[in-house]
Amino acid sequence: MSKVESTVATQVAVPGGGSLLAKGLNAGYGKIAVLHDISLQVAAGESVALLGANGAGKTTFLRTVSGLMRPTSGRIELGGEDVVRCSPTQILRRGMAHVPQGRQIFGGLSVRENLLLGCRLRTDKAAIKEELEYMLEVFPALAQKIRQPAGDLSGGQQQALAIARALMSNPSLLLLDEPSLGLAPRLVDDLCQMLSRIRDDRKMGMLVVEQDTLLALELTERAYVLQRGEIIMTGRSAELASDPAVVYAYLGGGPEG
Ligand code: ATP
Repeated sequence: MSKVESTVATQVAVPGGGSLLAKGLNAGYGKIAVLHDISLQVAAGESVALLGANGAGKTTFLRTVSGLMRPTSGRIELGGEDVVRCSPTQILRRGMAHVPQGRQIFGGLSVRENLLLGCRLRTDKAAIKEELEYMLEVFPALAQKIRQPAGDLSGGQQQALAIARALMSNPSLLLLDEPSLGLAPRLVDDLCQMLSRIRDDRKMGMLVVEQDTLLALELTERAYVLQRGEIIMTGRSAELASDPAVVYAYLGGGPEG
């Protein structure tokens, strides 16, 4: 382990923190009900995938648990604490960071400024400096372009920046919405390696929403399958990935597809 890695890793303590529990969650847009009685759990430090076809409700679930939408009913607990009425900022303070679909980086700001926005709630300057060094080590392409406007980055680099920015808050649980969307296969492999490294270095939990089923199953220990707003299946990722019938029937493509 490098010096930067070991310093950052020792700052991260997740005893019981970082666990997410959604119980009987219902949510939607106005009168349109999208999520129906969802129960889903991510233990502290665990990696979990939420899979499903277009429109199944994956983004709606992430938006609801991260405080961007209010559920119509149900419980959301973070580290055992009820957060159903918390704002996105309060949820971020409690250690859950969300990388939204579409990256939402600030193209007119530099790469460095974007990264620093990720730790706007932190005041520990020395730790922020170490965090920045760690991010630039994990994402070397960002180090090379640190002073450039983020809008000049390639799609893969922008995705790396969006993830690194969320990590700058030092979360105990990271929500990722379609991290591979729009990336070439080689970049998806790179991203997968970076995410695995960060997860292992930080002992951080991850909840990954992906349409690239096999990628998500490779990155995670357990998975849930969402269909039309309902959880229709859950199991160990390795078992789901090695069951072609499951992949074909529920996830839109076999191992070849
Ligand atoms: P995708 O991968 O396409 O984003 P998803 O599984 O994340 O799919 P959601 O984006 O959560 O699905 O959408 C679930 C349902 O909610 C869809 O029927 C969608 O049309 C609807 N929906 C999403 N956003 C809104 C909105 N702002 N207002 C009304 N309906 C919405």
